[in-house]
Amino acid sequence: MKNTSIWNEYELPKYDSLKNNNECDVLIIGGGLSGVSLLYHLKNSGLKVILVERNRLGRGVTSRTTGKLTYFLDNVLIKVKKRKGISKAMS
Ligand SMILES: Cc1cc2nc3c(=O)[nH]c(=O)nc-3n(C[C@H](O)[C@H](O)[C@H](O)COP(=O)(O)OP(=O)(O)OC[C@H]3O[C@@H](n4cnc5c(N)ncnc54)[C@H](O)[C@@H]3O)c2cc1C
Repeated sequence: MKNTSIWNEYELPKYDSLKNNNECDVLIIGGGLSGVSLLYHLKNSGLKVILVERNRLGRGVTSRTTGKLTYFLDNVLIKVKKRKGISKAMS
């Protein structure tokens, strides 16, 4: 069984380091799901937006996500952890 995240199998774009001072209206720090989503939503705003990432795009917590959209997951997992232990809750 695979034990690596499928999110890490995709090669995301790489960009050069900033070499000069730059000015912008919005500076987004971090190229995970939050930062990239914000960048996407500001794309047509007319604002000058710069996103900086200290490592690789999408390789932080974002690369570990299971990608589910749900609002009650945390509550369910807390109950499973209490009854069955952490390994069952994480599986
Ligand atoms: C095992 C697991 C399963 C999950 N499953 C789900 C799920 O099913 N559904 C769901 O909705 N969510 C899930 N999540 C949560 C979700 O993955 C995170 O909430 C989300 O990815 C966080 O995104 P982020 O952009 O805030 O953080 P990150 O992806 O961590 O991005 C932050 C980025 O900021 C960069 N950074 C930090 N400091 C600096 C700095 N000083 N300068 C420049 N860059 C910096 C980091 O290098 C990193 O790339 C899960 C999380 C885990 C761990």
